[in-house]
Amino acid sequence: RPRPLVAGNWKMNGTRAATETFSAILEGYDAGLRSKVDLLVCAPATLTYVFAVAAVGTPVKVGGQDCHAATHGAHTGDLSAAMLADVGASYVIVGHSERRTDHRETDEMVKAKARAAITAGLTPIVCVGETREERDAGRALAVVGAQLAGSMPEEAAREPVVVAYEPVWAIGTGLTPTVVDVAEMHGFIRQSLVDRFGAAGRNMRLLYGGSVKPGNARELLGVAEVDGALVGGASLVAEDFLAIARAY
Ligand code: 13P
Repeated sequence: RPRPLVAGNWKMNGTRAATETFSAILEGYDAGLRSKVDLLVCAPATLTYVFAVAAVGTPVKVGGQDCHAATHGAHTGDLSAAMLADVGASYVIVGHSERRTDHRETDEMVKAKARAAITAGLTPIVCVGETREERDAGRALAVVGAQLAGSMPEEAAREPVVVAYEPVWAIGTGLTPTVVDVAEMHGFIRQSLVDRFGAAGRNMRLLYGGSVKPGNARELLGVAEVDGALVGGASLVAEDFLAIARAY
């Protein structure tokens, strides 16, 4: 099994004062936790450099929440993967459902971003997940299968890529799928990745995301083919984030 990864997605939360929270995460990542799980914080871009500097000499990783597909140029407001790498990021989330919705990102765009991340030496975390309507219509597997096919770059066969399954209806709602549903989806994702990428697909880390909390982490992270979590709200509180990691 791949080594588990617990990743925090801070979304659009946190000013420099939140460096205190990040320091508490660094301090709480003790030898016991280090032996079991990798820790990553994807902070807002304004904090990436500050956090990366704070994390120097520790095994905690820092990541971005999005990147542009191009290396540089006339793209006001955007950041390239190389810029994130330059300030110390080693991961970047791409294709989060909030970006697919708020910024109309398509599978094709997400794939281009993932490719740009790999080229810059970052590990992309490619997000997929169905809406409530799609699940109710019995289309969850088909929707996620299509997102994977369209969003995963060919480079995933030889470069590290992480996949995060985040059912849209579970994000920020306190709702989670049953362990049976998570097992079904993660088994399906694993099989799709193995079919397409061979051995690399077998070793790829598959995260579950959507209302992961200290109280449900053990159950969700114990599901077959779940190799970690992508945590939103609970990652903003150091003790909660660490408690989730301690589920391992
Ligand atoms: P919540 O943990 O707040 O539900 O958010 C999940 C998420 O979107 C992580 O990327």
